[in-house]
Amino acid sequence: MDHYDILIIGGGAAGVSAARAASGRRVLLADRGPALGGVLLQCTHRGFGNNQTGPEYMEHLLRDFPESVELALNTTVLSVSPEKTALLSGREFGRREVSFDHLILAAGCREIPAGALPIGGTRPEGVYTAGQMQALMNLRGYVPEGPAVILGSGDLGLIMAKHLAEAGLEVTLVEKKDSCGGMARNRRCLSEYPIRLLCGDTLAVLHGEKKLSGCTTAKGVYLPCKSLLIAVGLRPEQELIAHLAQPEWLTLCGNCRQVHPMVEAVVQEGKQAGAAVKKAIEVCL
Ligand SMILES: Cc1cc2nc3c(=O)[nH]c(=O)nc-3n(C[C@H](O)[C@H](O)[C@H](O)COP(=O)(O)OP(=O)(O)OC[C@H]3O[C@@H](n4cnc5c(N)ncnc54)[C@H](O)[C@@H]3O)c2cc1C
Repeated sequence: MDHYDILIIGGGAAGVSAARAASGRRVLLADRGPALGGVLLQCTHRGFGNNQTGPEYMEHLLRDFPESVELALNTTVLSVSPEKTALLSGREFGRREVSFDHLILAAGCREIPAGALPIGGTRPEGVYTAGQMQALMNLRGYVPEGPAVILGSGDLGLIMAKHLAEAGLEVTLVEKKDSCGGMARNRRCLSEYPIRLLCGDTLAVLHGEKKLSGCTTAKGVYLPCKSLLIAVGLRPEQELIAHLAQPEWLTLCGNCRQVHPMVEAVVQEGKQAGAAVKKAIEVCL
């Protein structure tokens, strides 16, 4: 079984920053995607670092990336054991168990899906999470059918509202709070595009058998729509370590520790995690 000083799970901004800071030790960085970058790769809007797009920002993070860090791309970490081993499975990597001294979990976060919400009706074709639609549009050139409704007016909901409006769709945002969430720069789309905002309301029922035809809000407003994007929140992805009792060899960083709206905080946390783990190893030598 191959042994690593540090196994890093997740090659987004957090994992890449941790790997850079930990280089010099034997580090394996695993990501289930075909390239490093995580969610940044689908964020083609500007607003990262020095007003860069997500992929541009990632390119900058990867400049002079240390060759000593071993990469396992297209590789999913299936499990982590209390005995400090992990089971990995990937196209090039195969199915292999590795052992490690330290684990840095940088697995990002996951979206809350429609199925987790108390909305009546069926789940017809046309219901997506906002992040799924962002990946479909930005990575695959897909344009959904309008009109569209977005549930949730946080940053992701607003970014997607702008994106859909730019694609020519009629968009309604439904927000259960009394005012719109999100950062001021993302709220700007509300004055720049004819996006309708319904605050103090939520979705109660979806309509349509095979395909979505509309939805009704809790206050009884009927909204005809062919696409619905759920943007009600993100949860840190901690499933792999849920059975572990916070061992001292485990460090979490980035969105899998806590969801961060700005990438700089994620990078900083990744750097700190990598440097602290490297230092802990070197002190013990
Ligand atoms: C839609 C959206 C828009 C944003 N817009 C901005 C913005 O304009 N400006 C800004 O500063 N910030 C923005 N952010 C925030 C910032 O981009 C993110 O917080 C940051 O990129 C998250 O980095 P991360 O490494 O924690 O997670 P991620 O980028 O999600 O990386 C996690 C990685 O872990 C991998 N992974 C997970 N589980 C496993 C497993 N079991 N095995 C192998 N690999 C695994 C995933 O494939 C993924 O590549 C945005 C975020 C989102 C979601």
